[in-house]
Amino acid sequence: MRYEDSPPPSGSAPAPEAAPAAPGRPWYARRSTLAVAAAAVAPTCLAGWVLTQVMAGAGPDDSRPPRVVMPVAAPSPAPSPRTGAAPGAAADPLAGRTVVIDPGHNTGNFQHTDEIDRQVDIGTNRKECDTTGTTTNSGYMEAEFSLDVSRRLRTILEGRGLKVLLTHEAGAARPWGPCIDERARIGNEARADAVVSVHADGVSAGNRGFHVILPAQVKAGGADTAPIVGPSRQLGERIAGNFARTTGSSPANYLGSGTGLVVRDDLGGLNLSTRPKVFVECGNMRDAKDAALLTSPEWRQKAAQGIADGIVGFLGG
Ligand code: ZN
Repeated sequence: MRYEDSPPPSGSAPAPEAAPAAPGRPWYARRSTLAVAAAAVAPTCLAGWVLTQVMAGAGPDDSRPPRVVMPVAAPSPAPSPRTGAAPGAAADPLAGRTVVIDPGHNTGNFQHTDEIDRQVDIGTNRKECDTTGTTTNSGYMEAEFSLDVSRRLRTILEGRGLKVLLTHEAGAARPWGPCIDERARIGNEARADAVVSVHADGVSAGNRGFHVILPAQVKAGGADTAPIVGPSRQLGERIAGNFARTTGSSPANYLGSGTGLVVRDDLGGLNLSTRPKVFVECGNMRDAKDAALLTSPEWRQKAAQGIADGIVGFLGG
């Protein structure tokens, strides 16, 4: 069974948008090269430090507004009579913002194959309502992983004052699904400022690392991603950089040309979204080294933190 998030069939090249343009080679590609060079000449601990410094360096993840240091002698501005806040004080950019988190698949899907095999309209074509997802070789389900990371992510984001919705939490309330069209609709109807679908990949051993899937520009039927292609890329770049920093994982070595970013036009969850949205494939469950990370609660917390930091950065927080 093809997974909703499985790679495109072999022979179909990644969408052209995925290829970095030569002159404006993206920041993460440059960083990747630097990090590899550093790792080749430095002890592991030093390489880790260098990678951290490189990831923390100038780039989209660091584009928070510079902190303004007031001169010591400057007079304090008078408080605003209406709010009591100092004039010019920045409003909290996260206030009133909504994030929808979509835990990939559902732990009950494998018991509801008739329901999830039903075809739904994704604009460009029709596709299965949902899929079972993959597992590690020892049987840890992707659906279990994605729900766990999503809950951790919700906790972190709510701690930042964001409103957070999950598309489902499995169990009695959602024994299977939702279908991929409904997953998109939940983000749309919530008018989410950012939507992230959490997954892990299931490809052959030796393929390692994370990648973020961005929506391609598609317009067909109920799908029109033109308004979200740009902001979704910004969201994806933020998440990729922060995910690498918090987890220490590298961008996938089997797709995305080392950028950790892939553009796809075959995912209903992206095609039908009207809100900025990406999928995060946190690692390869079928690779023993990646699986050791994915099955670790401590690592999953780091993964959630990286995704959260990417979302918060995208929202200007
Ligand atoms: Zn998946």
